[in-house]
Amino acid sequence: MKRKLSNGSRFRHPTLERAQEVDNVVPFASLQAKLNKSKSSNSGSAVHWFRTKDLRAEDNVGLTAAAKRAEKHGSSLFTIFVFNTEELRSHGVGNNRNAFMLQGLKALKEQLKKQGIPLAVKSCRSTKETVDIIGDFMKETGSLTLFANFEYEYDEIMRDIQVVDRLQENDMDFQLLHDQTILEPGSLTTSTHSPRKVFTPFWNDWVPAVNKLDLSLLPVPKQPGTSVDEKFFNSKDEADIFDTKLDTSLEKLWPAGHDSGIEKLNHFIDKKIDRYGNERSTPAKDCVSRLSPYFALGFISAREALVAIKERKNVKSFGTGTNGVDSWVRELAFREFYRQMVAVVCPHIVMNVPMSLKLNNVEFVDVESEEGKDSWDRWVSGTTGYPFVDAGMRQLNSEGYMHNRLRMNVASYLKMTMLLDYRLGANYFANHLLDWDCCNNMFGWDPSLTVFNPVLQAEKCDPAGNYIRKWIPELRNVFGKAIFDPYHRMQPKEFEKLGYPAPQERQKDLQDCKKRALERYKRAYGKIKQEEQ
Ligand code: FAD
Repeated sequence: MKRKLSNGSRFRHPTLERAQEVDNVVPFASLQAKLNKSKSSNSGSAVHWFRTKDLRAEDNVGLTAAAKRAEKHGSSLFTIFVFNTEELRSHGVGNNRNAFMLQGLKALKEQLKKQGIPLAVKSCRSTKETVDIIGDFMKETGSLTLFANFEYEYDEIMRDIQVVDRLQENDMDFQLLHDQTILEPGSLTTSTHSPRKVFTPFWNDWVPAVNKLDLSLLPVPKQPGTSVDEKFFNSKDEADIFDTKLDTSLEKLWPAGHDSGIEKLNHFIDKKIDRYGNERSTPAKDCVSRLSPYFALGFISAREALVAIKERKNVKSFGTGTNGVDSWVRELAFREFYRQMVAVVCPHIVMNVPMSLKLNNVEFVDVESEEGKDSWDRWVSGTTGYPFVDAGMRQLNSEGYMHNRLRMNVASYLKMTMLLDYRLGANYFANHLLDWDCCNNMFGWDPSLTVFNPVLQAEKCDPAGNYIRKWIPELRNVFGKAIFDPYHRMQPKEFEKLGYPAPQERQKDLQDCKKRALERYKRAYGKIKQEEQ
């Protein structure tokens, strides 16, 4: 991996003044203001532009609106997907997630074909090319209205602003709709009409607002008799794109597309959701849904998840309780909360700047230094010497997925115990997670004063050590409390026989590491409020 550092971080980010500016006038509002100026068109075909977050035909708000528009005008519906490799590369997204996405796209294309809806798949390397491809496609298909679902991240909004400009120059209309969330980001506000910025009040408002909604799902559109120029829709570009392969082991774990997502969803609701409230933080219990890759790419919608719970569990309304259903739905609300935060509160968080701007000044250990290099290599390969952290990293490297409890632990270990730049970790996650999601990932990694102790966490969340034994073969025959911290809890000779590494010299004393981290953060932050875990 590239390790060049500039401005203390090797990741592209704006100045703190610019980050502040972006929060003061959020790009989402600028985009909406531009959209309001669009003239709606009464003729011409309609296009739905699939992005990387709505890859399904079922219950798709933008696609349904485009289909209705085409039907109303007696014209055709076309769809397009533009694979901008640079956009994904700039976020750090890895090959496996791209392959997973493209397999889902392929299934979508086949499904749409059966419904008489053509999907063109193009690839490019820049935002400018994306804008050109969309503009040209509108002309070639004789379309006057472009539909798509909102994406809330900064770069994506700036791209959409360019698309609005291009279409308006040509008297074309761009309609953007909310599809990723059940409630529109920005819709839950305080009594003074500012968006909710704290999760618990957001959740307390979210539940009654969702209970009032009619959650019926949108059907897959169908279009009889469109004449499709096969050459145009089966380009060489497309053949190359669909040639991208997912590792065989991952293909079995993560079958792509809507139907596989729904199968997993139903299995989770029938077999696991009741245990979720009590066991979700115990990774060995395997009671989480593992649906994040399907939500991240929009293979399934959050509405579909709620409707399935209502039907299969005979739930009339959701509550703020701690039973399995409510605890799980609360996580979906977290996902919505982060989208609200990115759209209308602190868009700068997805620009590689911490939510609290002061924490941008934390003095991290240079990853190119001897200490930094050793730390990084151990973290990445799951050889830190602390089994809970190592098991998490080995799960990630093997499955393209990691349980939430482990994500919190490995993140804390990287940014607090090793004191490496949190952006290195966020980028590694983007590169290896199949469920990479810019909003969830940046909030998950956001620096704070919380320090996890991986030994105490393991004792609490993996009391029998089964999760650790599953992922660390060297420790398969270690039992009792030694499994949580073998270096400190075994006789040196016994420990040596395991072939499992000792922690780095600097990380042998976790209390000391915590002190060092809090001092550095204190220097950056001014005042410290220490949270104990
Ligand atoms: P379940 O427990 O079954 O939850 C159901 C769904 O709710 C998930 O699929 C997800 O869409 C949503 N959800 C669950 N927990 C959270 C959460 N804490 N924040 C927001 N949404 C949540 N999630 C991602 O989808 N992509 C990421 O790139 C990502 N990066 C993370 C990085 C860090 C450092 C941390 C601490 C968390 C991150 N998360 C991310 C959030 C969370 O860990 C995952 O969503 C969850 O582990 C996915 O597993 P699951 O589908 O079995 O979750």
